[in-house]
Amino acid sequence: MPIRLLPDLLISQIAAGEVVERPASVLKEVLENALDAGSQAIQIQLEEGGVKLIRVSDDGCGIPKEELPLALTRHATSKIASLEDLERVATLGFRGEALASVAAVARLTLTSRAAGAGHAWKLAAHGSGEAEPAALAAGTVVEMRDLYYNTPARRKFLKSEGTEFAHCADAVKRVALAHPGVAFSLSHNGRVSLSLPKADLAGRVGAILGQDFLAECRRVEAAINGLSIVGYAAQPAWSRPGRDAQYVFVNGRFVRDKLLAHALREAYQDMLHGSRHPGYALFIEIDPAAVDVNVHPAKTEVRFRDGRAVHQFVYHAVHKALSQVISDPSREVQT
Ligand code: ADP
Ligand code: MG
Repeated sequence: MPIRLLPDLLISQIAAGEVVERPASVLKEVLENALDAGSQAIQIQLEEGGVKLIRVSDDGCGIPKEELPLALTRHATSKIASLEDLERVATLGFRGEALASVAAVARLTLTSRAAGAGHAWKLAAHGSGEAEPAALAAGTVVEMRDLYYNTPARRKFLKSEGTEFAHCADAVKRVALAHPGVAFSLSHNGRVSLSLPKADLAGRVGAILGQDFLAECRRVEAAINGLSIVGYAAQPAWSRPGRDAQYVFVNGRFVRDKLLAHALREAYQDMLHGSRHPGYALFIEIDPAAVDVNVHPAKTEVRFRDGRAVHQFVYHAVHKALSQVISDPSREVQT
C-alpha cells in the first residue's frame, strides 16, 4: 500500500485505544473535565458496566453554544495555549482529545449551559452538526451510549459487566479522594452505588477506604521547598493481601509511579511481611514545572525532574509518620 494520510475518524479511533480503552477510562476523562470546569457536585449514571450508558452531569462553568463543536474536535482545548502553559499545566486535562476520542467510538451528546446563557444547548456528535436548544439549570451533561458499537474488535476486549462496573467505581473513588470538597453520586442500572457528600479529607478517606482504615492510620504531613505531602498511611497491622488500598496523587492526579511505589515500599520495609501490602492515601503537591504529566495519553504516569529528591522526601515523611510513638493514651501499650 502506498503511504496515505488517515481519515480523521480513523485517527481518533486509533487514539481512542490509548485514551479510552474501557468504560472506566472514558469515565475518568469525563470526570476530569467536570472537575476542570470547577464543579461542586457531579452525578454519574451507568448502565451495563458503562458499556450501554455513561452519563455525567456537573454544575461547572459550562460550554458556550459556539464552542460545543470545538469541544468534540481533536486537539482543541480551553486549557493550554502554548508550550509554556503545557510545562506548568495545573488542570487535569490539556490534550484536547478525550471527547473526540469518545465520540469516535460511542454515541455522544453534549448538553451544556454556560454562565449567562438564557438556556442550554445540546449537540450530538453524529447528528446534523447543529446545536439544539435544551433544558438544563446549569453546567454540562455528557452522555455516551453504546461504547465501541462501531469498533467490534475493541468491544471484544471488554470484561463482564460486573468487572467493568468495578473499574468505573474505582475511577470514581480515585477522583473523589482527590476532591473531597466536591460531592459525587454514582448509580448503576438505576441503583445508587456510591453517595459522597462534600467532606474534608479525613471524612472522604473514611467514606471511601472505611472507618476501620482511618482508625489505623497515621497522618502524614510534611513540606520542603516546593514539595509537600499530606494524607494517611495505615499502620502495618492494617495490611492487605492486595494493593487495592494504595492511592497516591500528584497535584490532584491519581498516579501509578514506580519511583513513588518504591519509596513507599521502603518506608514500610521491616514492618510488613512480604505477602502483605500496606494501605495509604497520599497527596503530593509539587511545582507543576517540576513534573511532566504528558508521558502517556492516560496521564497516570508522571516524570519528576528531580526524582531522587521526591523519593527521599516521600520516604522520610511516611517513615517518620509510621515510626512515631503513638500519643493517643487509649492506644498506648501497657508496660
Ligand atoms: P481537554 O480536557 O484535554 O481540554 P477534552 O476533549 O476532554 O480535552 O475536552 C475538550 C474541551 O471541552 C475542554 O478543554 C473544555 O473546554 C470543554 N469541556 C469538556 N467537558 C467539559 C465540562 N464538563 N464542562 C465545561 N467544559 C468542558
Ligand atoms: Mg479532558
